[in-house]
Amino acid sequence: MRSITTFDIQYAHRFYRFQGEAQYLHGHTGVLTIEVEDTVNEGVNMVFPCNEIQKTAWSVIKNFDHALILREDDPLLPAILDVYAKQGIKNGAPTNTMKGEAFSNELCTAYPDCRLVVTKETMTVEGMIKMVYALLKDKLNIAKITFTSGVNAASQEFKPEGTKDRCPLCGIALDENGVCPKCGYRKR
Ligand SMILES: [Zn+2]
Ligand SMILES: [Zn+2]
Repeated sequence: MRSITTFDIQYAHRFYRFQGEAQYLHGHTGVLTIEVEDTVNEGVNMVFPCNEIQKTAWSVIKNFDHALILREDDPLLPAILDVYAKQGIKNGAPTNTMKGEAFSNELCTAYPDCRLVVTKETMTVEGMIKMVYALLKDKLNIAKITFTSGVNAASQEFKPEGTKDRCPLCGIALDENGVCPKCGYRKR
């Protein structure tokens, strides 16, 4: 069975060199849906608590929220960083507190201090799904990701491997020693 969680993500981007209005900088509220598949954990009668999926995913995904997402070869990137540097906000500002953990992989690098994500590919809804999967596949048993933004929508199914050992009392994943990080339950 699946536990399903949805997030709103507000972001600005553009499709560099795309022949259409999307080549101009613009913003969206995107809706990201993550489906986690596993056995039903009998202790709590859930696959996984959705608020825990939210916490795990959001710690990473929030780097895309209220962020500017630009492709690595977009000339807007150095131009904007130059403005941020001159304004003294490139390396952070006291009011910029809702930051995720910085990440970097082959598809994207997050710069939470200036709310920027630099991507290898154009950040379409398809591109977002590829990035989210790469960032979260080791943390969650992802079976499907859907991303919608304006009139654009895409989804991709994945084959989760195996099952995660979860706490029968609170439902979250046990650590490598079989101990629940939340309530201290210990697997015998
Ligand atoms: Zn757009
Ligand atoms: Zn527990």
